[in-house]
Amino acid sequence: MSSAPATTASFIPFSAPSIRDAEVDAVVAVLESGWLTTGPRVREFEAAMAAYTGARFAIALNSCTAALHLSLLAAGVGRGDEVTTTPLTFCATVNATIHTAATPVLVDIAGDTMNLDPAAVDAAITDRTAAILPVHFAGRPADMATLRQLASRHGLALIDDAAHAPGAASDGRRIGAISDLSCFSFHATKNLTTGEGGMVTTDSAEWADRIRLLALHGMSRDGWTRYAREGTPHYDVVEPGFKCNMMDIQAALGLRQLSRFEAMQQRRARIWQRYDEGLAGLPVHRPLPPAPGTVHARHLYTILVDREECGLSRDELFAALRTRGIGTSVHFRALHLHPAYAHQGYARGAFPQAEHVSDRTLSLPLWADLGEDDVTRVVEALTELLA
Ligand SMILES: *Cc1c(COP(=O)(O)O)cnc(C)c1O
Repeated sequence: MSSAPATTASFIPFSAPSIRDAEVDAVVAVLESGWLTTGPRVREFEAAMAAYTGARFAIALNSCTAALHLSLLAAGVGRGDEVTTTPLTFCATVNATIHTAATPVLVDIAGDTMNLDPAAVDAAITDRTAAILPVHFAGRPADMATLRQLASRHGLALIDDAAHAPGAASDGRRIGAISDLSCFSFHATKNLTTGEGGMVTTDSAEWADRIRLLALHGMSRDGWTRYAREGTPHYDVVEPGFKCNMMDIQAALGLRQLSRFEAMQQRRARIWQRYDEGLAGLPVHRPLPPAPGTVHARHLYTILVDREECGLSRDELFAALRTRGIGTSVHFRALHLHPAYAHQGYARGAFPQAEHVSDRTLSLPLWADLGEDDVTRVVEALTELLA
C-alpha cells in the first residue's frame, strides 16, 4: 500500500499517483465521519492551498475545467469577448472559454519555452479581448511579468491555467498568487491529486464569493451550513448556477498530498536530473533548464523527437517504448489541429512553433514514486533505440 506497486511490475506507466497509508486513513476517516460532501475538510484544504500559494482566497471545485469556466464567468467574460490563449494545451482550456459564449483566440508559443509568446499575445489583442489565459506548460512558469504588463495596459483579466503548476514560482511568488485568478487541477495524473478535483485561487473577495455561488447551483447557502446543528433549512437560489463543488473525501486526500508535496517535488526534481544526464548524448531535444528567478513544477518531462535526427518518428518511438514496457504520453496535439475547433478557421500552418512541438513531443514517465531502477530502464531503452 505504501510504495508504488507499479515500480516492480513489468510495465512502467507514464504516470501513477503516490498514495500512502496517510491518504488511505484520511479518506476512511471522512467515510466514517458521517459527512462526505463539501464540509470541514474542504474548508481546511482551501485554507491550506491559500496559505501555500500566498493567495487570499481559495475555492475548491471538482475539476480545473470547472475552475477555468467559473473564473472566466466571475471575471465577466461572455458573449462577444475574446480570450487569448495557447494552442499547446489541453482542450479544457478553450472549452471553458467556449462555454462562457466567448471566443478563444489562439496565438503561438515561444518554441523554446513552449509557453505563450507575449509578443504574439500583444499582436492579437483587439478591443474585444477580455482576458489572457496562459498555461504553465509542463510546470514551467509562463512569462508572468510581461503578461501582467500587457493585461494591465489593456485592462484585461489575467487568468492562468495552473493545471501543471502547483509548486511553480516566478520572481519570488508562487503560481496562484500572481494572476487575477489561478486554476489548479488535482486530476489523478497531476503533481498533487485528489483523484479528480480543482481549485481557484484569487485575491478578490468578490470573485471568490461569486465562484462559490456558481459552483453550487447559485444557492445562497451550502449544505454544510444548512445541515449543521445550528443550520437553517432555507436558502435562496439567486441565479442559475452549476454543480462543481469538491467533496470532503477528495479534500482529505488533497490535504495529505499537500503535506508531502515538497518531498514529492524533490523526488520529481531528482528524476528530472537523471533524465537530463541520461539523455544528454542522445539526438533528442530535452526541456530547457528553468529560467533564472523561477521554480519549475516539473510536472512533465517532455522530449522532442525529430525523425530526421532520431531515425524514428515520435509515434514510432512511442510504440517502441511501449513494446519495452514503458508508457509515455503526448502533451499536446496542438488544439487547432482538432476537428472541434476547425470552424474557427484555424488550419495547419497557423502556429508553426506549436505545431513543431505538437508533431514531436513525448512525455516520459515522471511521478514521485517512480523507482531509480525504472528511470534506468527508461534511459537504457531510449539509448538503445536512439544512440
Ligand atoms: C489536466 C489539465 C486540465 C484539466 O484539468 P481537470 O482537473 O481534469 O479538469 C486543464 N488544463 C491543462 C493544461 C491540463 O493539463
